Amino acid sequence: MSSLEDLYREIILDHYRTPRNSGELESPPAKRAEGFNPLCGDEIVVSIDVRGDNVISDIKISGQGCSISQSSASMMSVAIKGKKVSEALAIAKSFKQMMNIHEIGLEDETEVFHAEAETQLGDLEALRGVVKFPVRIKCATLSWNTLTQAFQEDAQNLTEPNR
Ligand code: ZN
Repeated sequence: MSSLEDLYREIILDHYRTPRNSGELESPPAKRAEGFNPLCGDEIVVSIDVRGDNVISDIKISGQGCSISQSSASMMSVAIKGKKVSEALAIAKSFKQMMNIHEIGLEDETEVFHAEAETQLGDLEALRGVVKFPVRIKCATLSWNTLTQAFQEDAQNLTEPNR
């Protein structure tokens, strides 16, 4: 076991034991979506407050499941809080690319994702090793799919100019 893998394991366990942004926001006004991964029994509830200028002013996560699903959700909340919706979706795309998954639903919005090369995944890099275990990929991506689901209900509001 390399020291990098040790570090990654520490990061994952830290987010699992001490989840960031835990809880739920009052909905409405918060957007809310629930995700379920029947393969593993993971559940994630994402609630998000978005300000008028399309900035994610607050996000809360609740749910239960394995360390991969719960730590990924915690890391996601840290990564996207305070970001614009378009930036959050770009991070989601980068993360899924790291997980080697092609999301058909997101392919159209290419202009939104111009910034993806410079997208910093930070702690999320710790989940990189999950790709070696294909059955766990759905655990890692559950919270991200739930996030995009929360936005899809009003996807027409994402007509933000390129930055
Ligand atoms: Zn799981």
